[in-house]
Amino acid sequence: MVERPNRKRIVVLGGGFGGSYLAKELTRRKYGLDAEVVVIDRNNYFIFSPLLVEAGCGSIEPRHCTVPIREFAPKAELLMAEVSGLDLERKRVHFQLVGDDQCRSIAWDHLVVALGSVTRVLPDHIVSGVREHAFFMKHMSDAVAIRDRAVELLELANAIDDPEERRRLLHIVVVGGNVTGIEVVGELEVFVREASSQYRNITPEDITFSVYELNDRLLAVLPENLSNWGTRLLKRRGIRVHTGTSVKEVHSTRIVDSNGVSVPCSTVIWTAGIAPSPVLAQLGGLPLNKFGGLQCESDYRASGLDNVWGLGDCASVPGPDGKPMPPLAQIAIRQAPQVAANIAAVEQGRRTQPGHVQLQGVLVPLGRHRGVASIKGLRVHGFAAWAMWRAIYLMKTPRFGRRLRVLVDWIVNAFCTKDYVQLGMHPASRRGMARPTCKDGEEAPDMEPHR
Ligand SMILES: Cc1cc2nc3c(=O)[nH]c(=O)nc-3n(C[C@H](O)[C@H](O)[C@H](O)COP(=O)(O)OP(=O)(O)OC[C@H]3O[C@@H](n4cnc5c(N)ncnc54)[C@H](O)[C@@H]3O)c2cc1C
Repeated sequence: MVERPNRKRIVVLGGGFGGSYLAKELTRRKYGLDAEVVVIDRNNYFIFSPLLVEAGCGSIEPRHCTVPIREFAPKAELLMAEVSGLDLERKRVHFQLVGDDQCRSIAWDHLVVALGSVTRVLPDHIVSGVREHAFFMKHMSDAVAIRDRAVELLELANAIDDPEERRRLLHIVVVGGNVTGIEVVGELEVFVREASSQYRNITPEDITFSVYELNDRLLAVLPENLSNWGTRLLKRRGIRVHTGTSVKEVHSTRIVDSNGVSVPCSTVIWTAGIAPSPVLAQLGGLPLNKFGGLQCESDYRASGLDNVWGLGDCASVPGPDGKPMPPLAQIAIRQAPQVAANIAAVEQGRRTQPGHVQLQGVLVPLGRHRGVASIKGLRVHGFAAWAMWRAIYLMKTPRFGRRLRVLVDWIVNAFCTKDYVQLGMHPASRRGMARPTCKDGEEAPDMEPHR
């Protein structure tokens, strides 16, 4: 990296929603900042997560829910690297370029931490087997792995004779009945049922989806009437809803719920909450709260540190009501302009301003052209909510070319059958499945294809 002695440098750790929107803001003229902006992320894209479940379930091409950082924030410098350490005294970040084994470092004048979150996995003595056996829905590889798994299960279930084992293979359990979990169960159920019409030995009764939610209702983030409407819809579609119940053990062939009931299944998708990126603790020296999040003041400054800022899922920033702002893309995006303005204020000797970002609304697609939505007091359900979800997220998808690609995918899918193929046999999709053991010359039973 060429060092330019007279120019200030702002280093942004993480180029997700928060980091990339901030990088774009910081390079705008309106802030009057003559600074070099460097984003460090392990990927050269970020995921437009509202479309991730659709990408996994084949409604859009997986690539189309990614946003290339270089294209999105062209005036910022991107380093595709793993952030590994901080030297707060000397104001340097340590990192390792992807594909290189050398540790490098870069100096900052302002540092912004936007490293996002991970799926929360509880310790083994509370819930065992999650890391070993469960699937997540956070990254592109997770979405692809779940889709590959679903196709693999259909192929296997179609080929075997034992009806009980077929039903176990086609029982998919989603743990966590809030927005992500409900979106996953709603869309994946449609994907599996539609795909199953191509498998002559699989009947609709062989397929089961279950949701487990510790709260006494699904979609607790929504008003009760919308949450009840959504729950009734899922139940009518045959999805088993277990509220007030958690999962205690996850095994490769079953789960054990909090009532001690053992339930045979093949696949568990874990969407029960998120936690700030554990990288924050590894970096050292940052003020962290008891959940491991970066503790910030209301103007996004990391508590007790000069010129270190935080935003997005990894930062705990008090909102106008004094409570931490929720970990959502819509929040991270709207935090970015205020962080940029505050960095400019520090550079120009002005006072910083607190953030005033509030939740605008929640939209949840439930599959089969239905959804629930609550936006600024407006409560909508059914087709209208689903259509609103699509219209709003299409408009929010960055850049015209990407919007067009997503729109074309949706139109094509409305008229053509999806491709029920695996996208790359992601190794995670084979979790808990038997490995090939056939040996040369070994006597093996005959298999008659079903009629
Ligand atoms: C399936 C799903 C659906 C969602 N739907 C919605 C929705 O409809 N509406 C909404 O508002 N929110 C939604 N969200 C939440 C939203 O995705 C997050 O709130 C948002 O991504 C937070 O932005 P961020 O910048 O804090 O983190 P992220 O966008 O996760 O970015 C963090 C970045 O840091 C990088 N990183 C992490 N560690 C390192 C390291 N050590 N070195 C280098 N780089 C690193 C990562 O690669 C990543 O690019 C959804 C989330 C999921 C999983």
